[in-house]
Amino acid sequence: MMDRIKELPDSVKRKIAAGEVVEGPFSVVKELIENSLDAESTEIDVEIYESGLKKIQVRDNGSGMFRDDLPSAIREHTTSKIENFTDIERVATYGFRGEALSSISSISKLTIYTRSSEEERGAKLTSVDGSVEMHDYAGAAGTMIIVENLFFNVPARKKFLRARKTELRKVRETFLRIALANPDVSFSLSIDGRRQVTLPAAADSAGRIQQIYGDDILERLSFERIQDIKIELSGYLSMPDLMKPSRSMQVLYVNRRPVEYRYLGFLLSRAYEAMAAQGHPVAFLFLTIDPELVDINVHPAKREVKFFDQKYIDDCIIHLSQKAVNRVHRVRDNLIKPGGDQFAVSALSEGEGSSSSSEEGAGMSLFEHDGRSYGMRSFLKDVSELYSAAQGEPWRLLGIIYNRYILVEDARALLIIDFHAAHERFIFDILMQGTLAVETQDLVFPVVLELSLDEHPVAMDCLALLREIGFDIEEFSDNSVVIRGIPVLGRGMDVELFFHEVLDALKSEQDMQARIQERIFEKVACHSAKRSGDELTDEDVLLIIRETRSGAHELRCPHGRPYVYAIERNDLERIFKRS
Ligand code: ADP
Ligand code: MG
Repeated sequence: MMDRIKELPDSVKRKIAAGEVVEGPFSVVKELIENSLDAESTEIDVEIYESGLKKIQVRDNGSGMFRDDLPSAIREHTTSKIENFTDIERVATYGFRGEALSSISSISKLTIYTRSSEEERGAKLTSVDGSVEMHDYAGAAGTMIIVENLFFNVPARKKFLRARKTELRKVRETFLRIALANPDVSFSLSIDGRRQVTLPAAADSAGRIQQIYGDDILERLSFERIQDIKIELSGYLSMPDLMKPSRSMQVLYVNRRPVEYRYLGFLLSRAYEAMAAQGHPVAFLFLTIDPELVDINVHPAKREVKFFDQKYIDDCIIHLSQKAVNRVHRVRDNLIKPGGDQFAVSALSEGEGSSSSSEEGAGMSLFEHDGRSYGMRSFLKDVSELYSAAQGEPWRLLGIIYNRYILVEDARALLIIDFHAAHERFIFDILMQGTLAVETQDLVFPVVLELSLDEHPVAMDCLALLREIGFDIEEFSDNSVVIRGIPVLGRGMDVELFFHEVLDALKSEQDMQARIQERIFEKVACHSAKRSGDELTDEDVLLIIRETRSGAHELRCPHGRPYVYAIERNDLERIFKRS
């Protein structure tokens, strides 16, 4: 039999509502920092203990609250930011619904210290499980909010939280995203009593981006801006050599609020399509728009937005990205104009990465004729040896073209093998089998790597795995690691570049050990594989051809690019009308 309809007790209603606003510790951090920003703070210090589950503390030097207002701050739907419903259409503040503090107080122990700059005496409020206490407080003007034992009375929610590390990562990400949009405010973040991030006030977004992502990134981003009556859209966008394996560095800020705009990644991909580069561009986009033309009230945590004229905004985003893309094309044009030939030659010998020592050799042939080897440089020290080694093979080596492709003829087809990509696949497969003996080669000069703020936690997560496959690596200081040895396999790799790429790739993986391992192996493979410009030994060439033809491997490199192209003999016969 069905029960009668009855109203839920207030405490239950509030816990239900709280679940929508507070998904995890990161939501609390977001709400509290936003409140501090709304209070026009210029300094915001955040402290996190045990991923925020034990304690989250946010202290600011903002306007503070009036003593008499303090008790209402934690009641539902109490706000100082709007007065009626139409105000919502033009809010310039982060908050307006007045539900954050009330929600948080219903699922934690909440303590607020605050003093308005206009009052002599401040107040302290503690609230736990519905009982509220007020005391005097004699501190500096501003507010400090402490949230302890989050979800202590919502065990179900606690169960659904991800691993501690993941929750902490989300906290850091939330913190950095908000900090990025407010460069004029100084921020700090401490984790378990250790100061981890210090961001002094910066002159502009560029300064803040540099503080967060390191010194080099700005050179690889181009700043673009478009403006018209309704909007201003500006942003820092990737040059084509800065592509990331995930979309984690694509953010749209709408009136300084980081939002999830589900079409952003798609729009950016479309604009960068022409670059034909792998991966996703970086884009920090700042949209300033009349608040009446956007609805930020569509998501409980205000993470999503709806634009009044979505098509128009989409066009603006594409237009802005294309400006960045075109800028790059213009540089290319200049390069080709006067000495077109010269460009063509260097384009042919362009390596794929940075490891190339000297790449003057434009195409080369393996053929020896009259004792001389053709091509500007010989990759194979002893060609005759190779030919004898290859004797009895059911194929014939024809040569290497464009410094990159091995040409092989067999009974059925002409094979063109991209040796770098092929090598990558074979190394990757060996690593995945786990049968490779781990051998470390000491570096003559240990490499100390400075880590940017967003790289550090990821680096800590992968140290153990890197050691397992032969890296001699350890934490060096708060923001660096030292690498003293690398796997013998990776001899000659650019350690620094390798490591930054690993971190980049891992940033998008969430604690899945298997995927992390794969990602690391991909990078090891990529950096250990022979590239255009490297010296190939006989064994390298033999190995690549034999493995390619063995049928034991996928015919794509670990990133998905094909490495072999076959022109079938039958097709040739058809083309030349011989069949
Ligand atoms: P909202 O931000 O939507 O108004 P909140 O529940 O987050 O709702 O906060 C309630 C009210 O408490 C705010 O409107 C503001 O007046 C006050 N408040 C909260 N945090 C601060 C702070 N750090 N400094 C000053 N006032 C604050
Ligand atoms: Mg708020």
